[in-house]
Formats: sequence, C-alpha cells, structure tokens
Amino acid sequence: MTKIAAVVMASRSSEMEKQARAALKRGADLVELRLDHVDDLTPGSIKHLAHAVGQRAIATLRSGEQGGAKRLPDERRADILGRVCRAGFLYVDVELQTDTALIEELHREVSKHYQDLIVSYHFQEPVEVSDAADALEACMAVGDVGKAALPIVDIEAAMSLVEFSRNQALQSKRYVLIGMGDPGIVTRALAEDLGQEIEYAHVGRPSAAGQFALETALRLKKKTPIVLGLVGHPLGHSISPQIHEAAFAALRLPALYLPFDVEPRSLGSLLDAHERLRLRGFNVTIPHKEAIAELVDELDGDSEALGAVNTVVMSEGWTRGHNTDVHGFRMALRSQGLRLGDRDALVIGAGGGAKAVVHVLLREGARVRVANRTPSRAQALAETFEETVEVVEMADLPKRAACDLLVNATPAGMKGVSDALPVPEGVVAQAKYVFDLVYNPPETPLLRAAKHARVPRMGGLEMLLHQAAKSFELWTGKAPPIQVMEKAAREALA
Ligand code: NAP
Repeated sequence: MTKIAAVVMASRSSEMEKQARAALKRGADLVELRLDHVDDLTPGSIKHLAHAVGQRAIATLRSGEQGGAKRLPDERRADILGRVCRAGFLYVDVELQTDTALIEELHREVSKHYQDLIVSYHFQEPVEVSDAADALEACMAVGDVGKAALPIVDIEAAMSLVEFSRNQALQSKRYVLIGMGDPGIVTRALAEDLGQEIEYAHVGRPSAAGQFALETALRLKKKTPIVLGLVGHPLGHSISPQIHEAAFAALRLPALYLPFDVEPRSLGSLLDAHERLRLRGFNVTIPHKEAIAELVDELDGDSEALGAVNTVVMSEGWTRGHNTDVHGFRMALRSQGLRLGDRDALVIGAGGGAKAVVHVLLREGARVRVANRTPSRAQALAETFEETVEVVEMADLPKRAACDLLVNATPAGMKGVSDALPVPEGVVAQAKYVFDLVYNPPETPLLRAAKHARVPRMGGLEMLLHQAAKSFELWTGKAPPIQVMEKAAREALA
C-alpha cells in the first residue's frame, strides 16, 4: 500500500514539528521533514524532531544541487546525515550522486535501527525513460527504497513512465518514480495503482511541480483513481479544474481532473492508452474538438450533428463523444425562460461555440443570422446546417441588427484576449436580449454595453456550469453538486 507523505518545509524546527503533527492528525501516513529548510538544525533539534515524530517521518536533507534550500559544505552534510541516521527516523533520504561515498556506511547505520534508507536521484532536465530506469536501478541497488524524479514534457513520456512503473510493481520493487510537471501528474495520480512506496503531497506550497494537496492524495488513498481532465494544445487558462475538483471533493470521489496538453499526432495514442491510464473521460478543447469526433467509437446525437466533441466518456475499452456545450447553452436559455421559436437571433462568431449555439437556436425554431470577422468561416458554418442560416457582413450589422437575441460567440471581451466589443454599441442597443458566451470577466464589455442600453443580458458562466455539470454526470453517473461547482467557479474567477 502506498504511504502518503505530507512534505513539511519550515525554517524553524519547532514550527516543523508543529506542522508535522498537524499533517499527521489530518490523516497523512508520514511526513517528509525537509531538513534543508531548517535554520536551527543542531544535534539537539535533530534528536528532538526524531523523538517527536520520527517514527512516522522521512528525514530529507535535499542538497542545493538537487533542488534543496541550501548548499552545505561536504563535512557538514556528512555530519548531519550521520546524526539523522542514528536519531530514529523511519526513513532517511540520501542522494545517489551527492552522497556516493557515504551511502554504504549510512545504510549500515539505519539498518541497525530497523529503519529504511531511500536513495534518490533528481533529474533537473528531461531525460529518456531508460535513463531514469537506470538511475532508479542504481538507487535500489544501494538502498532499501529507490526514488527517481524527472521532468516530463509530454504525454508520450508520461505513458512510457507509467508502463515502466507497472513493471516495477509487478516485480514488487520498493520504489518511487515521479514525473514532474503537468504532463507527469498522471504518475502521481496512479501512485497506488503502480505500487509506489510513497506518494508525496503538499500541506503548504508544493515542493515539486505537479504535487497534489494532502486532501487530494487522501481522497485517492486505497482507491482505483478515476482519471479525468482537459485535452487541448496548447492548454490555455481554464477554470474547469477548479469546478470539477470541488465537485469530487464534495462527493468524496477518488477522481482527478488533470491537464493533458496533447499534440494532434498524439490524440490517438491517448485514446488507446485510456485503460492503462485509468482514464474515465475528458473534456476536449481547441484544436481537437473536430479531430476527436473522428477517433471515438460512437457519437451522441448533438456531437454527430455538429461533428464536434467537447466531452469523451470511456468505459471498458469503448469511447463515446458528446457535446455538452449544446446542453449548456440550451439549459442557460431555459433558465432565463427564453423561448426562441419563430424569433430572430443574431450570432457573432463562427467557431465551435458559435456552431453549438446555432444548432440549439435552429432546434428551438429560431431564424438565425451569423456574422464573423472572417466572412468565409461564417459561410462555411451556415452550410453545415440543413436549415437556412443567413450570413451577414460585419459592416452591414448596424443596418441589420434588430433581433430578439444577440449572442457573442467570439473571445472579444475575454480577459487576456481583448477588451473590445464584438459589435458596435448601436447594434447592442437594438437587441431584446444579449447573451455573451465569454465568462471571464463576469461582466464583459458587451454586458456593460447592454446594461447601459437597458437590455436584459446574461454572461457565459451559467452555460459553462451546465456543460460542466453534464460532463460530470456522464463520467461519474452521479448527480452533479451544482451549487458547489458554481461557488468554485466564482472563486476561481474572483
Ligand atoms: P473558436 O472556435 O476559436 O472560434 C473563435 C471565433 O471568434 C471565430 O469565429 C473567430 O473569428 C472569432 N474571433 C476570435 N478572436 C476574435 C476577436 N478578437 N474579435 C472578434 N472575433 C474574434 O472559439 P470558440 O470555442 O467558439 O469560443 C469562442 C468564445 O466562446 C471563447 O471566448 C470561449 O471561451 C467562449 N465559449 C464559452 C462557452 C461557455 O460555456 N460559456 C462555451 C464555448 C465557448 P475568425 O473566424 O475570424 O478567426
């Protein structure tokens, strides 16, 4: 069984003891005491820490060269490690490269006290998985537990690391193998599944990129993880992780929502590897929404009609594509009691969001006009529907603006993109209702203009929440805790 170690970094030994006791009380199996952070590290404070929490602690003096807080002279490091090994900590972590000459002696010392020596190796730059495997083998050869950590740059490397780890587990090796950074998070998510000796979690700031918070690690403990996430390339900023993590925590599900930055060429490999990665599904964003529709085994009605998928559900080797943007927009309209049958709608934009919006509006019986910065894309969008969709030039909008519903489906007004209006103010004033798909910031320039013109309006958050709730339900089969999800979304936006 994998032990969860809360990493404690404090500059005073008394504070370290306090934080360690608190983490153990919260449910951590172990604490990793990062002694390299302690300024008052004396023979007395080492003994005191060992006496206070040593039986449930890993004592680690990470060297400056391997990402530690301080660079110590060799004799000082040897002296501290010798004392630590005699003091009575359950595990002592030493470094294969830094402590080469000391390891044999330190191993003898810890063995006398029935403790274990973790011999670790931290790559600062990405390396081939075979190099990490060699380093791990070398660590295991001289210690009780081998540990290697390496930066992982893409999903392929993460998958190779998972494969290699499964082999270690099959051989009952005592090991820890960590893929650092976003693409490597899956190796942490599967720690128990891969038979790793220890999973490191943070209680304050993370000590390494991709580390889980203690609460998240505890939620996954002794359970087969439900791995979910967001697949795109490059992955822009999204608040979906916060929304879903809050829902998992509220329902105590052993689920995780991870970032999967996947290049187009790797989409197929990700789908093929879903069982090995314990992937239950994922959301899809730019640029994969159309490509994934070609790769899944089955499409639901909406995603088939649009040829675009934003949610994939995976079960027993079968993959199914859905489009929960359609559901999100439909539910958002309903929540406002907006009935669009026989009404005029004007949609700005011709991307994936606009397509989902037009699809819903046509199903509701609306007459739909579309305008886009690049007119040919608006034309192409119109041609994908059997019903009539009229294309309007942006320049002609002021003359053709009167409508019951104006929808912005462009990123104009989105934080970090632009603070421009997607249409002139005069166009906004001619609408009877304004719907902005943009949800960040909550009050966009378009919503402000609508407020100014006294036009009823709605931002994109409600749609986002409904689409997230639908994805959650499809993946977990459980009723989504929508209020919890909304609170998390508002906090993330604030
Ligand atoms: P997309 O597929 O990339 O399409 C973007 C569309 O916006 C294209 O028609 C593009 O025009 C146009 N555009 C891009 N930048 C523009 C700018 N600065 N000014 C005017 N037009 C611009 O994106 P999408 O997935 O449809 O998303 C569009 C927006 O809707 C994003 O802000 C997204 O966050 C939001 N959205 C929200 C939800 C929700 O749940 N609330 C769901 C989906 C999308 P060209 O054709 O000329 O490039």
